[in-house]
Amino acid sequence: MRYNAYGILQVASSREAQMIDVTADVSAFVRNSGISDGICHLFVPHTTAAVTINENADPDVVADMLMGLENIVRPGLPYRHAEGNSPAHIKSSLIGVSGSIFVNDGGLVLGTWQGIYFCEFDGPRRRSLSVKIVRTEHERA
Ligand code: ZN
Repeated sequence: MRYNAYGILQVASSREAQMIDVTADVSAFVRNSGISDGICHLFVPHTTAAVTINENADPDVVADMLMGLENIVRPGLPYRHAEGNSPAHIKSSLIGVSGSIFVNDGGLVLGTWQGIYFCEFDGPRRRSLSVKIVRTEHERA
């Protein structure tokens, strides 16, 4: 029986700022791991992207989130970073690059309206999402 499983999911963004629903990809990784009980850790190894969990029923929610972030992290400020993508770096740290979800009976334990989103803030690019599942069930005596 496996104690953990590690993989890297490839994510391709098509716009500068985008929230990509990766729930099905992460769920498939969990199912294929064969681990029934544990914790699924997600990590984004990028400085201008992030991962979050939010509503995946109404697509207007992610559109509003992107608009709200754009209003919080204003473009056009006298940023010093020569690459010109400081707003993307700030959004990455605001949202965060990691998350954890319980795995129960071989599936992700998410709320009814929750989905996992890879957040692109400096696209379009080819990105990675690291997934590690750590088994937590106890050995049977
Ligand atoms: Zn930069």
